[in-house]
Amino acid sequence: MDKKILLRFWHYPVMTLGPGRRLGIWFQGCSIHCAGCIAPENQAFDKNFAVPLENFFKEIQAPLSYAEGVTISGGEPFDQAPALFELLKFFKAQGQEDILIYSGYLNRKILSEWPEIKNFIAALVDGPFIAGAVTESRWKGSENQELTIFNKSLVQKYSSWINDSSPRKLQLVKKFNGHYLIGIPEQKGIILN
Ligand code: SF4
Repeated sequence: MDKKILLRFWHYPVMTLGPGRRLGIWFQGCSIHCAGCIAPENQAFDKNFAVPLENFFKEIQAPLSYAEGVTISGGEPFDQAPALFELLKFFKAQGQEDILIYSGYLNRKILSEWPEIKNFIAALVDGPFIAGAVTESRWKGSENQELTIFNKSLVQKYSSWINDSSPRKLQLVKKFNGHYLIGIPEQKGIILN
């Protein structure tokens, strides 16, 4: 297989995007261009971030074996649907059933274009980031975004996570030549481009 994915980076453990200690994967490239996007550097479909999927699978094999779940974000995962589904098939083959996707597309578009997604993921947070739609929920960036749980056996796990009223947390991780914040900050202080 010589298929590639545009990948920003991955990290384990991620403790701020979904329940438990998770493997986090960030796609590179997003066509949605929300005003106030907190990761504008992830928007370009930059071929310098292309990675053969087979290599990526080998890289994440070890952390995947002990991760309590996987969170896929971006960029926009569905803008690379063929690579996304290869990745989801890999997770299924590895027996990982707790996959959470953050997408800027609406649930109804996703389910209309890729109805099979329900068989591959546990949950989906959908909708674009809307600056000004402030939310108290620490698991999303703006109030319009919604969580859909497809895997009913994981309802309790996700309910505990979204109902946790402790303050928002961000993880600071060192990657490559810089530092990255993992998690969803409050909207206060966001400057529109
Ligand atoms: S969908 Fe996400 S990555 Fe894309 S522009 Fe909106 S906030 Fe940024």
